[in-house]
Amino acid sequence: MDLSPSKQPRGEDQPRLFSFDNSYARLPEPFYKRCDPTPVQAPKLIEFNGPLADQLGLNREDGSDELLARVFSGNQLMAGSEPIATAYSGHQFGTFNPTLGDGRAILLGEVIDLDNHRRDIQLKGSGRTPYSRGGDGRAPIGPVLREYILSEAMHALGVPTTRALAAVASGERVIRDFPEPGAVLTRVAKAHIRVGTFQYFAARGDQGNLHRLADYAISRTDPLLMAEEEPYLAFLKKVIDRQAGLIAKWMNLGFIHGVINTDNMAISGETLDYGPCAFLDFYQPDKAFSAVDVGSRYAFGNQPMIGQWNLARFAEAILPLLDEDQDAAVDKATQAVRGFLPLYEDYWLAGMRAKLGLSLAEPDDKDLAERLLAIMADNRSDFTSAFRALANHQAGKTAAAQAEFGTSDAVAAWFSDWQERLDRESEPAQDQAARMFAVNPRVIPRNHRVEKAIREARDDDYTEFHRLLAAVREPYGEQPDTREYETPPSEQEEVLRTFCGT
Ligand code: AMP
Ligand code: MG
Repeated sequence: MDLSPSKQPRGEDQPRLFSFDNSYARLPEPFYKRCDPTPVQAPKLIEFNGPLADQLGLNREDGSDELLARVFSGNQLMAGSEPIATAYSGHQFGTFNPTLGDGRAILLGEVIDLDNHRRDIQLKGSGRTPYSRGGDGRAPIGPVLREYILSEAMHALGVPTTRALAAVASGERVIRDFPEPGAVLTRVAKAHIRVGTFQYFAARGDQGNLHRLADYAISRTDPLLMAEEEPYLAFLKKVIDRQAGLIAKWMNLGFIHGVINTDNMAISGETLDYGPCAFLDFYQPDKAFSAVDVGSRYAFGNQPMIGQWNLARFAEAILPLLDEDQDAAVDKATQAVRGFLPLYEDYWLAGMRAKLGLSLAEPDDKDLAERLLAIMADNRSDFTSAFRALANHQAGKTAAAQAEFGTSDAVAAWFSDWQERLDRESEPAQDQAARMFAVNPRVIPRNHRVEKAIREARDDDYTEFHRLLAAVREPYGEQPDTREYETPPSEQEEVLRTFCGT
């Protein structure tokens, strides 16, 4: 295998699609290794995110589909790109692995978008890197399309997330459980800096680069914090706050990440590394989909606790930066990490209030929300449909809620308490309903529909993928032509397991 820095010709003939400015590549070598993408046999553009490309300032004057397929498969480098694979460690299912790194991803470079924000442009599935270990550096089409659909859905649902810019079929086969067509995903992030990136330098006792990474990360995500008296402690608290807000959003929507290893937790607070992730169909707090998560470590209801566990690992990694006196550093870190759960609870409850149409805060609201979830768990209610039915109920269409919840005593009591609670707000019911429709989605990327789109794409038919993608981009409004995506799976259709497909 040739991993020399420059496998591909660089020069005047490279297309100028982006104005790259590659700050990560200006950090010293231990942060990454230079590594070009390995060309694929027959790149064909499956999907391209035009609005995102425009936001990133992509020059599309002569951007034919063929050119886009070439550059977003890694077959042709763009002018100004400096491909690198970044180094990181990570706790995988609780076990520390000191050397992970981008084994199937290559950072092409960074661009400044129209809002003046720096964005990483990264290929996933673009061939082996020095961190590939036994892997092939490739991605099957299944995980590429799953990440495309799920991440664009999350964005439309208002959840911080990496974005998908392009999906390109490689024209090659990738062997996993069975041979599958290969593909390359182009992913855009505020920054691909992970908790595991900090662990990489901490594990090596490399305090100089730990410091450098912290300064760099702060400059990427929180530049104002540098003016604080204790910038690294302020940074720790900020990362904790963002994760609390992020995981609360997942829990409000019924999203299971599936593999929240510390290398898959971004300090930017974006949902990162969509593997065997899925939305709940029926509500089951201990639901885990991932085939590799045998102990259900990353089950739905565990996500907040795991978030805090990962953040404790982050705090440990940056201890040397928090205080010269390590006992004092431990105290500061402990206090900050303990702050996670109360923050999470606040975000989660604010989200639940909105879902229930409440704009004021009352002390019993948490109890009201938890009683509802207990009823939903007992009934095996479809998570998404149940909340949408509540919005319909508040809009005067009560049949949906009756069908969804039934008429047990517990349900009747809950509805009566909820209505009393709503009556204590000053807004008219129609306004409450309108706000509920705006936070309780009608369409989510349901697992069985994602699987259907992937199955058909494996046979080179992308119709269902395109339709589903369009549907999940409009999750809240009433679109008659996407009604089929609202329907929960039948027992036969229900997807019980999801796979990383790595
Ligand atoms: P992930 O499942 O994305 O969290 O990946 C965990 C680690 O395995 C990372 O270091 C990846 O780069 C690496 N990895 C996953 N799939 C592959 C692959 N097909 N080839 C090489 N490395 C891989
Ligand atoms: Mg990962």
